[in-house]
Amino acid sequence: MNKKAPAVNRRDFLKKSTAIGVGATAAPGQDRGGARAGEIRFDQVADVVIAGAGAAGLPAAIMARNQGASVIVIDANHDIGGHAMLSGGRIPLGGGTSLQKKYGIADSADQVYLDPTNHRNPEFRHADRDLVRVWADENVATFEFLIENGVVFNDEPPSIVNGGGPIWAIFDSDAVKREGWDPNPPNVDPRGWFFAAETITELAGKIVNQYQSQPIAAGVLETTVAKYNSFVEVQKDSDFGKPMPKYPIKSPPFYAAWSTPILHDTLTGLKINRKCQVIDVHGQVIPGLYCAGESAGGFALHGFPRVTVFGRIAGREAASV
Ligand SMILES: Cc1cc2nc3c(=O)[nH]c(=O)nc-3n(C[C@H](O)[C@H](O)[C@H](O)COP(=O)(O)OP(=O)(O)OC[C@H]3O[C@@H](n4cnc5c(N)ncnc54)[C@H](O)[C@@H]3O)c2cc1C
Repeated sequence: MNKKAPAVNRRDFLKKSTAIGVGATAAPGQDRGGARAGEIRFDQVADVVIAGAGAAGLPAAIMARNQGASVIVIDANHDIGGHAMLSGGRIPLGGGTSLQKKYGIADSADQVYLDPTNHRNPEFRHADRDLVRVWADENVATFEFLIENGVVFNDEPPSIVNGGGPIWAIFDSDAVKREGWDPNPPNVDPRGWFFAAETITELAGKIVNQYQSQPIAAGVLETTVAKYNSFVEVQKDSDFGKPMPKYPIKSPPFYAAWSTPILHDTLTGLKINRKCQVIDVHGQVIPGLYCAGESAGGFALHGFPRVTVFGRIAGREAASV
């Protein structure tokens, strides 16, 4: 499917391509045929090129292939799946899906449209109505598309809670000295987001936060810190493979800082239209460039319902040019 061709420049690359999920146009790993070190060569041609093999990029690729287009999917990671691989897997699509019908749940695209456009809903009330409308209209088709492509929806209610956090960064006074930090207000917020104590046991008991669903057991924190310190001793993190764990956590006072390293939603991104074409600062369509997923703006709905719907649309539209 991927025809070999002479080197393609960046402008040609964009003439008919889809940028999904990340909006990137570079193709790492395609450097061949004598390219100089650091130089990126575009020497593969396909009808649709997708940057990012995640929850938006993969539906886009399937849609484009279903339309007969040749497709290249590139990903910066060593594996495909993106954030979707870590997710809880909940995909709240509606509008009258086969599963809703099975359980006698009355729903419609119009009903789906009303939720995110309700003026009482502060998260969505400024959403681009065009995008919300096309999203509502494509809910059912996307749900059935996911089933057709092997996504299994359990009949039971979800039993898991979201595992995204909170996560606490634990460190000691040596780290504070080493980094030159000042762990006092206003640099830190002791009202639930930052704690200090003379012992690890005491620290565990102090960690109280509205999003901390259960207390941190002192024994668990002590064991975890001791284990981490043992990794420092042998210079090998056998839990997570952190390269060269350098410093033990041993000198009081000890600290716990709220840490949110996982980005769930970007809530902003490139401006797109109903076809997922990217719009420039003058309000004009950029020919050949499409965007979906977390890198698309205009509609800050969380997760899969938005990214899979617009991924499908982007792949379909890019392949139809
Ligand atoms: C812990 C967690 C739990 C979640 N649970 C749910 C849930 O239950 N339900 C729900 O609806 N949503 C959930 N989400 C959100 C959902 O996973 C994301 O909204 C969705 O994966 C976003 O799709 P995406 O295609 O935009 O990005 P991703 O799925 O992250 O895919 C983006 C891809 O682009 C690649 N990439 C990045 N930069 C480049 C580059 N420069 N060049 C090439 N490739 C690049 C990445 O490696 C990645 O593979 C969860 C998210 C997290 C983190």
